[in-house]
Amino acid sequence: MSGKSLTDAHHLLTINSGSSSIKFALFEHAAVLRKLATGQIDRIGLPDARFRARSSDGVVAADHTVEAVNHVQAVELVVNWLDRQGGLTSLGAVGHRVVHGGERFLESVAIDDDVLHELERLIPLAPNHLPGEVAAIAALRARCPGLPQFGCFDTAFHRTLPSEARQLPIPRRYAAAGVRRYGFHGLSYQFLMQELHRVAGERTAQGRVILAHLGAGCSLAAVREGSCIDTTMGFTPAAGLVMATRTGDLDPGFIVHLLRTERLSADELDNLINKQSGLLGVSETSSDIRDLLAREESDPRAAEAIALFCYQLRKHLGAFTAALGGLDTLVFSAGIGENSPAIRARVCSGLRFLGIELDQALNDQDAPIISSPGSPVTVRVIRTDEESLIAAEVLRLL
Ligand code: ADP
Repeated sequence: MSGKSLTDAHHLLTINSGSSSIKFALFEHAAVLRKLATGQIDRIGLPDARFRARSSDGVVAADHTVEAVNHVQAVELVVNWLDRQGGLTSLGAVGHRVVHGGERFLESVAIDDDVLHELERLIPLAPNHLPGEVAAIAALRARCPGLPQFGCFDTAFHRTLPSEARQLPIPRRYAAAGVRRYGFHGLSYQFLMQELHRVAGERTAQGRVILAHLGAGCSLAAVREGSCIDTTMGFTPAAGLVMATRTGDLDPGFIVHLLRTERLSADELDNLINKQSGLLGVSETSSDIRDLLAREESDPRAAEAIALFCYQLRKHLGAFTAALGGLDTLVFSAGIGENSPAIRARVCSGLRFLGIELDQALNDQDAPIISSPGSPVTVRVIRTDEESLIAAEVLRLL
C-alpha cells in the first residue's frame, strides 16, 4: 500500500457505480465513522448528465449538469470536486461496491493489478454493472496512484449458500463454468444483520431471519445462525421477486418461445427482462410503486401490478420460512420496505398462520418494530446503508 495511514489521512470515499450512474459518499474517521457528504452523477453518457452533492445535514453542495461521457470522466469529476472541497489530500482510502465477485472473491479485498484483472474477467457475469465499476476503479488508480482501493462484493454475503440452494438444475458442465446461484444485495444484507445484532442482540441475530430488500431491485435472504442459506436472486439479479422493471422468476420456456416467435437478440431479450418488465411492464405506466398506489383505484393495470408484486413476495416469504424451518424475525428494508406501510401490510396480510401479525399503528409510523406485541414473529423496519458498510469494511481492512 501507499504508506499513507489513517492518522494523516482521515477521509474515506465510497463509490457505487451503476450502469449509468456513480454514487459516492465521503466519510471522516475520527473516534467513529461519520458520513460527511453524499453525491451522485446520473445519466452518464447522455447530454444532460447531472452532478449532485449534499452534506450529511442536507445542505446542497452541488447541483448542475456536467459533461460525463463515460465512467472515467465521471470519476474525474468526483475527484475534482473532492479536491475543491479540500478533501483529496486527506483521503486515506476508497471502497468500491462491486456487484459480482464470482467464485473467487468471498470477502472484501484490497485491489491490486491481479484483482483488477480478475474483475475484468468476471465482466460477462454482470455485463450491465461490472464494466462501469471496473472503469471507475481503473480511472481512480490512474488519477490517484498509491491511494489504497478496496472492493466490497454484493455476492459475498451469499458464500454460505448450501449446495441445494446454490445449484441450478442444468447440465453439470455449466456449473463447472461458474453458472450457479450467486445472490446479490449482499452489502445491504450484511449491514442489516449488523444492525439487527446491534438493536436486538446476539440471540435474535442468530435466529431464523428473513431480510427483505425492496427497492428498485428486490430480493429476500434467508439467514440462520448468521449465515445466508437461500436468496431469491440467482445467477443474475433478474431472478426471484417481481421488481420495478425486472421480471423476477420467469418460465424458462417463455424465453424459448420468444426466441422462436420474435427472434429477439441477446440485447433485446436483456432489455425486455431487465428494463421493460416488472411493475412497469404490468402497469404500462410506472416502475415506481408510489405512482401505482396513487392510481390503483382508477387504473386496473396499476392495481394488478401491485397485487402481483405483493403476491409473489408473500409466496417467497412462505417458501423461505419453510427453508428456515420456521421464522423468528422478518426485516423490511430499502425504498419500498422502509417507506411503504401499505405494501408491508399487504405482503403480511394472511400470514398469521406463519406467526406474522402487524400492528397497524406501528406499521403506519414506519416504527422500528411493526409487529403486534403478541406476534410470534418480530417484524422490523431497518434503514439500510450500503455506504456505511463499505466504509466500515475499508477501515477493517486498513
Ligand atoms: P435502489 O434499488 O435503486 O437503491 P431504492 O432502495 O431507493 O432503490 O428504492 C427505490 C424505490 O423505493 C422506488 O422505486 C419507490 O418505488 C420506492 N419508494 C421510495 N420511497 C417510497 C415511499 N415513500 N413509499 C413507497 N415507495 C417508496
